[in-house]
Amino acid sequence: MNKQTAVYPGSFDPITYGHLDIIDRGLEVFDNIIIAVASNSEKKGLFTVAERIQHIEEAVDGNSRVTVDTFDGLLVDYVVSKEARVILRGLRAVSDFEYEFQIAQMNHNLKREVETLFMMTSVPYGYLSSSIVKEVAGLQGPIDSLVPPVVSKALAEKFGNTGKD
Ligand code: ADP
Repeated sequence: MNKQTAVYPGSFDPITYGHLDIIDRGLEVFDNIIIAVASNSEKKGLFTVAERIQHIEEAVDGNSRVTVDTFDGLLVDYVVSKEARVILRGLRAVSDFEYEFQIAQMNHNLKREVETLFMMTSVPYGYLSSSIVKEVAGLQGPIDSLVPPVVSKALAEKFGNTGKD
């Protein structure tokens, strides 16, 4: 089978086991995945882009088929600059659909040769988002089952000790 490179873009503020599940499953389909942290997002992040990259790098643990990068400007231009054709995105609830649909349509209009492919969340991660993790961590709730250890530790440092599962 002829595999290829996919770009998995997002805020990753911070990376969760839901993201890592999409990455693991994406590697079954694609040769290489570039995790592209958006640096021009309007959203003010809890972590800096450099911190998010460091968390992701530690979480993917030196997998040579995964590259971690950052981009600003149009995603489709970034994808083409990496000689990739596929944008990989995850879908959780129906509530993700409308937003993802709009962006995918816009990206397709901007660059016909770039396709967005969606992977459905795995059941245990259907409710999991970076925002909910930050909210729970901020309230000292247990997050160890939701994020990799590097992120747990970073959140504990931001918010003071978080509870354990
Ligand atoms: P963005 O701000 O671009 O939505 P996120 O970091 O929140 O960035 O998400 C990046 C991608 O990962 C999105 O496609 C999102 O739907 C997907 N994603 C996030 N959490 C999960 C999860 N628990 N299961 C599946 N996909 C997820």
